[in-house]
Amino acid sequence: MIWNREIECMPREKMRVLQGEKLKRIVAHAYNNSLFYRRKFDEYGIRPEDISSIDDIVKLPFTVKHDLRDNYPFGMMAVPMSDIIRIHASSGTTGKPIVVGYTEKDLENWSEAVARCLTSFGLDSSDLIQIAYGYGLFTGGLGLHYGVQRIGATVIPAGTGNTVKQLQMMSDFSTSALACTPSYAMYMAEKMNKYDIPVDSLSLRIGIFGAEPWTENMRREIQDKLHIKAYDIYGLTEISGPGVGGECECQNGIHISEDLFYPEIVDPVTLESVGPGQRGELVFTTLDKWGMPMIRYRTRDLTTLNYETCECGRTTVRMGKILGRSDDMLIVRGVNVFPSQVESILLEFPEYEPYFLIEVDRINNTDTFQIQVEVKPEFYTDKINQLVRIKERLTSRIQNVIGIQPEIKIVQPNTIERSTGKSKRAIDHRKFE
Ligand code: ADP
Ligand code: ZN
Repeated sequence: MIWNREIECMPREKMRVLQGEKLKRIVAHAYNNSLFYRRKFDEYGIRPEDISSIDDIVKLPFTVKHDLRDNYPFGMMAVPMSDIIRIHASSGTTGKPIVVGYTEKDLENWSEAVARCLTSFGLDSSDLIQIAYGYGLFTGGLGLHYGVQRIGATVIPAGTGNTVKQLQMMSDFSTSALACTPSYAMYMAEKMNKYDIPVDSLSLRIGIFGAEPWTENMRREIQDKLHIKAYDIYGLTEISGPGVGGECECQNGIHISEDLFYPEIVDPVTLESVGPGQRGELVFTTLDKWGMPMIRYRTRDLTTLNYETCECGRTTVRMGKILGRSDDMLIVRGVNVFPSQVESILLEFPEYEPYFLIEVDRINNTDTFQIQVEVKPEFYTDKINQLVRIKERLTSRIQNVIGIQPEIKIVQPNTIERSTGKSKRAIDHRKFE
């Protein structure tokens, strides 16, 4: 099923014309109603009349997270506060929180985008969807909530935490889909195991997982453990929230609702556009968001874009899985390391649990690179030799793939913190002056 066939299967040329029309409108709105954008555009010597098609987007200046912080809380709104009917704030994974505001139309468009994702995951009005993302200022809970209502499915507004109760609900209510972070899904699977809840006693078919990077290996792990199809949903507070894009049944890229959120990929250093298929920083322009439009917002998320028509029939651009944020990237002994790379490698080994914590420090002018890992209870033995062998194999695999040698520290089962929301996978103790 396709929620909005006209848009999602629109010929690309027609889509670009539509995007051009919408860009003109939103740029004029931003210029005329937001002091922030007026100043920025004036400084840059650009006026709304300079935009006549979507190709002209490259003439516009970028917006960055700093701009939102500098204008905290409401300085970037482009409508009177009386027209703002909801605010959200970023969970503050990196630094001070930022606040965003939505008009009624903005919330409608956001729900529309989420509805498209849910439909592309194979969900419809007959489904019961348990939302175990955080409710509140975080966009995850309420974002999904309104999307589920839009497709007429049943919302189970569980929120995060209280995992045993969540599993009980899942069983009692015959929940068919679970929406949460991939970390929390893993944790739920672990609890099910602990409490001897057979997976097949549940009616769960579909996972709606996002809000943090996760790899193909993690997908396999979750799908195997929970006997579901696990779909990726992507979004960020600045651009609305979850549902900016989602996968289809092909699980081969995240379709972006590009009539609402126009994506570009730029080189994070030169800020020049890169060619299709090349990796770089994802940049979004909200084409239909009026309360707080975002023009060429630099997400810091690193990925690729693919414009080929998908086997599912949708023509909307597909984004690759997010490698990580440029802010998550650690530079250790001169080598770039993303926690998602460690995740992927760890899951190649049947002996290890998918939990880890990277700690980086600088001792005697040398970077240390320690990874705490847990082995599955059946592999956790007193036989030092066995553990050493398991450790050596992981060490050399990481050295081969990432290019630096880690110090692997096997910790007691169940000691690495489990997350019910976004997980923290790296701590950098180095002090950079
Ligand atoms: P915060 O910046 O405080 O974490 P947000 O909830 O707005 O607040 O987080 C959005 C970010 O979460 C994205 O920019 C991206 O880095 C990450 N994210 C969201 N969904 C996904 C996903 N499906 N895959 C990878 N990363 C994701
Ligand atoms: Zn598709």
